[in-house]
Amino acid sequence: MGQNHGALKISKGGKDIPNAHARATYCDFDLSLTEIYKDLISLGFRDVFVAPDILNAKANENFDALLSQSELLRNYVLEYVKSHNDFPFGPFTSCIRRLFLPRLDVDIDYGCGLGKTTFAVDFRGDIYPCHRHSSNEDQKMGNVFGEFRENNQVYTSEKCKTCWSRYSCTHGCSYNDHELTGSTSMKNDYWCRYSQKLTELSLALCSQLSEKQLMNIMAIKPVLIDNNN
Ligand code: SF4
Repeated sequence: MGQNHGALKISKGGKDIPNAHARATYCDFDLSLTEIYKDLISLGFRDVFVAPDILNAKANENFDALLSQSELLRNYVLEYVKSHNDFPFGPFTSCIRRLFLPRLDVDIDYGCGLGKTTFAVDFRGDIYPCHRHSSNEDQKMGNVFGEFRENNQVYTSEKCKTCWSRYSCTHGCSYNDHELTGSTSMKNDYWCRYSQKLTELSLALCSQLSEKQLMNIMAIKPVLIDNNN
């Protein structure tokens, strides 16, 4: 990192990318999640969102390592906010916002909008509820040159209705659920364990941040934290 990556020149300090957000996928849970955040933040990304590779969670012999790495990251976040004026920790930002800010009813059981506000169209013009489900015949929702129709898939789960974490959870990825459980209406346990851990850690973080810091994290506009409070 910090080298010239093809056409995009990135230098430490991030002068080349002042308003860019980084989105990374975390595949090997034995690697330090905190170091990944440190590296990406040092490049100057304004927000960093590292999402675990839930689909291949089985490939990680020790899924608990993800939960431990998330705890270590929370410790780093607490250290970071003591001496910085920003909060570039995307998963915690979005979880804290979900915990405190009003959400639309549809958003509560149905995080990503697949098949409702999000669609994918493949090269034949076939319509699917999202790009990951494309080419899967039972997910097809018509064709742009023909009819559009609702498919008969259920993307919500009964399990979520009684889950303590339902108001802060994004409900993960329906494609992952389908691949790991065989159904789009069954939530995979890997996601649930990770999501609940993220909620726990976010609540713990909230208890240790000042009111002003929390208000800044929840603002739609840039997150600037006054460390004097
Ligand atoms: S943690 Fe699992 S069961 Fe709970 S709301 Fe999220 S997806 Fe649903």
